[in-house]
Amino acid sequence: MNFKEEILRLKKEKNAVILCHNYINRDVQEVADYLGDSYGLSVKAKETEADIIVFAGVRFMAETAKILNPSKKVILSNIEAGCPMADMVNAQDIINEKKKTDDDLYVATYVNSSAEVKAESDVCLTSGNALKVIKNIPSSVKNILFVPDKNLGRYVEKISGRSLILWDGYCCVHQDLKPEQIDKIRAKDSNALIIVHPECRLDVIEKADMALSTAGMAKFVRENQDKNIYLGTEPGIVARMIAEGYDVRPVDENMICKNMKKTTLQDIYYDLLEERNQIVLPAELMNKARNSLEKMIEFTELDKQI
Ligand code: SF4
Repeated sequence: MNFKEEILRLKKEKNAVILCHNYINRDVQEVADYLGDSYGLSVKAKETEADIIVFAGVRFMAETAKILNPSKKVILSNIEAGCPMADMVNAQDIINEKKKTDDDLYVATYVNSSAEVKAESDVCLTSGNALKVIKNIPSSVKNILFVPDKNLGRYVEKISGRSLILWDGYCCVHQDLKPEQIDKIRAKDSNALIIVHPECRLDVIEKADMALSTAGMAKFVRENQDKNIYLGTEPGIVARMIAEGYDVRPVDENMICKNMKKTTLQDIYYDLLEERNQIVLPAELMNKARNSLEKMIEFTELDKQI
C-alpha cells in the first residue's frame, strides 16, 4: 500500500489536519499540513477548522491541542509516544510546593508537561516564548516556580534577570550534549556558527553562538545561508532543513529522541482510518489547564505589540 497517497486521501475525505513536530521522522513530516515547534503547533491547533487533528508528536502535544480546541477529535499519532521530561513532575508535586509557600507561588510550566500539571499552573511557556512569558509575569510576583526543565529555566533566568525556583527535570536528549562537543566542532571548523536548543545545559549554551527553539532555528537557517550553521538539537530539524534545500549540519547526529521517532506513516494511516488513539480528558481538567495555556498566548502576543 502507498501510505502517503492513502493518508492524503483520508485526510481530505475526513477533513483532517496533520500537525507535526520538527523532530518527527522525515517521511511523516512530508504528509504534514503544518510542521513546527510546540508554540507554532499550539496556535495551529487552536485555530484549525478541521474536524480531526492528528498530532504527530508526543502525548503532551496532543493533549495541548485537545485542551485548546476541545470540540475537535484529537488523535495522538502513536499512543506510546511520551516525553520522559514531562513525567518528571506531577500535579501533586505542584500542590505540595504551593503548600510550602502558603500558596504564594506562581507556577510557570513548560508546555512539555501533563494536562494535570498545566491545570495547577499559572502560565505555560515553550522554548520559543519562554523569555517573553517570564518577562511578562507581573513584577509584584516574587516566587516563580519553573517546571519541569531546569536547563531551560536556568537559561531564561540568566537572560531575563528574574529569579526562578527550578524543578530538577531535564530532557535526556539535550542533557547529554557536552561543552567539549562544541569545542571539538570549533577546533575543526573555525567558521562554525553553532545554535543549540535551550533545553541544553547552560555550560553548552554558553559555548554556542545562540540558543533557539526549532522554529527559531529554521528561520535562522533560511535567512543565513552564507553561514556555516550547526544545530545542537534532535536531528529531525536538520533533516527537514536539508530536505527543503538548505545547507546545515547537526552538532551530534546521535541526539535522537526515541519517542519522537516512534510515529510511522503506517501509524498515521491507521489513526485516520480507524480514528483511534483519541485524546479524552475531563472537561473540568481541560478548563483549568486552558487558563495557563491562554495566559501563555496572551503574554506572547502582548510582547509582539511592544
Ligand atoms: S526531545 Fe526531549 S523534551 Fe522533546 S519529547 Fe523528546 S525527551 Fe521530551
